[in-house]
Amino acid sequence: MLKVTLALRCNVCGGEQFMLPSPADTNEDIRCADCAAFKCKSDDLERTMAAAPRAAGPVRASL
Ligand SMILES: [Zn+2]
Repeated sequence: MLKVTLALRCNVCGGEQFMLPSPADTNEDIRCADCAAFKCKSDDLERTMAAAPRAAGPVRASL
């Protein structure tokens, strides 16, 4: 899993950090890093990120 800060907010706790599945991970669910609430599938995320303004800043990723 990859923990990233996204220009999104958790529907449950308002957190901006999410756990993304690694390429080797068969689980495609994206979950909140704080409360583990289900967020969306990665294809939905891609759509959301594509719609998000670039001014929101770069995605900071760390392992
Ligand atoms: Zn949350």
